[in-house]
Amino acid sequence: MYGMSIPRIVIVGGGFGGVYTARHLKPIVEKGIAEVTIINRDNYFLFTPLLHEVATGALSSHSVVEPIREILRGSNVHFVQAEVKGIDADKKLVKTSSGPIAYDYLVVSSGATTNYYGVPGAEKYSLTLKDLSDAINIRTALIKACEKAAMTTDIEERRRLLSVLIVGGGATGVELAAELIEFMRDTLCSYYHHACFDSGDMTVTLVASSPDLLPVFPQEMRAIALEELKKRGVDVRLGVNVIEVANHEVRTGKPAVIAPAAPGSPVPHITQTAVIESVILAQTIIWVAGVAATQWDIPGAERERGNRIKIDELLRVVGRPEIFALGDASGTYPMLAQVASQQAKIVARNITAVIESKPEHMKPFSFKQKGLLASLGKWYAVGSIHGVTLKGPFMWWLWRTIYLFNFHSWRKRFRIAAEWTVDLFYPRDISSM
Ligand SMILES: Cc1cc2nc3c(=O)[nH]c(=O)nc-3n(C[C@H](O)[C@H](O)[C@H](O)COP(=O)(O)OP(=O)(O)OC[C@H]3O[C@@H](n4cnc5c(N)ncnc54)[C@H](O)[C@@H]3O)c2cc1C
Repeated sequence: MYGMSIPRIVIVGGGFGGVYTARHLKPIVEKGIAEVTIINRDNYFLFTPLLHEVATGALSSHSVVEPIREILRGSNVHFVQAEVKGIDADKKLVKTSSGPIAYDYLVVSSGATTNYYGVPGAEKYSLTLKDLSDAINIRTALIKACEKAAMTTDIEERRRLLSVLIVGGGATGVELAAELIEFMRDTLCSYYHHACFDSGDMTVTLVASSPDLLPVFPQEMRAIALEELKKRGVDVRLGVNVIEVANHEVRTGKPAVIAPAAPGSPVPHITQTAVIESVILAQTIIWVAGVAATQWDIPGAERERGNRIKIDELLRVVGRPEIFALGDASGTYPMLAQVASQQAKIVARNITAVIESKPEHMKPFSFKQKGLLASLGKWYAVGSIHGVTLKGPFMWWLWRTIYLFNFHSWRKRFRIAAEWTVDLFYPRDISSM
């Protein structure tokens, strides 16, 4: 074997797609027939479905992350903590903040970033919920707003400071709204009662451009989510377009319509100017209205809506058979952790088949929906399992149990279970980091 090199598989992204692919590739690493390197910006895997619980203090930030080195311990998979800057597909190099890394097969699982859809001021004036620092920022902003509100005797100003506006009616917006209203009215209110806060001072408004909440969920789940949020006191406004965000202010109305540039003209022209119909004031604005795939130019690769990489049924990048893409970075399937983790198995299988020169072992991907779940605050969740919609405390317990068992280590599972138990009996911590 001396002098012979083995194929190098490089995985970009250590989230659901990347980490699960690396785990499924363990057998060929152990056989010594391939070398696997995973590159991620942070040294941990982030369990995004519980981020809203960090934002509202139900879980500590350490609980929703697991070190990638710990997940891959004993597997001989290499880990590189670096920022990926680009891909030179012709030279087969990944350009990173720690220098270039060569590959023979590349797996792109770099996820997605918040999509602001070009709405002016949205990125500058709102918080979002995509990674751990976002969750910490939301919690800090809420606690800071409470401290400011405690210093004022002006009731109107206090109410303004204690107002939160969420833009986006998908699962993240809905789960966050339900948790936030509870956190603000139960936890924060109890800590600041001496400052005359009452739960009526605290408002959570959710605006969504779609006519329904949870637009990709079954109709029955949508109706339950809407009813439950309203019951909990969230001001839900549907069919509302946010056209501009300013400092503590959101303007809604009809967006500008911009036509593509006419032949011979370099500038697109505005066929209809934006019309502001209403202004909503809020101290804390959180934008969770959509995501777009993280982008680098991969020469020859085609892109779909949301900048997602076009893939074939074997999960190879169309036009680049040595590059595989999965999860939120790739197109066709819903942007869900369960899609990314199912695709990881197929990517690992197909790369193994190529390396072992057994192309007949390659398998096309087909997504098997295992169910849909959304938590709606403490003791309540709604879910659809095998087409049956269920709601209530049992669903909430099931939702938590399923997520708990999605963590890789027992250490983390015990830690989360302990934090959830403490949360049932004691008020949440409001230390501002
Ligand atoms: C708040 C929230 C709640 C969610 N809840 C659910 C849920 O309940 N159920 C569900 O199924 N799905 C849920 N999702 C969606 C789910 O998180 C994604 O579909 C899933 O994470 C996609 O996996 P992925 O591997 O494609 O991307 P990710 O898991 O996002 O992983 C991408 C990784 O790539 C890294 N990366 C990106 N760019 C670079 C770079 N330039 N250099 C180095 N590293 C980079 C990132 O740091 C990240 O670690 C939720 C998402 C969010 C944001």
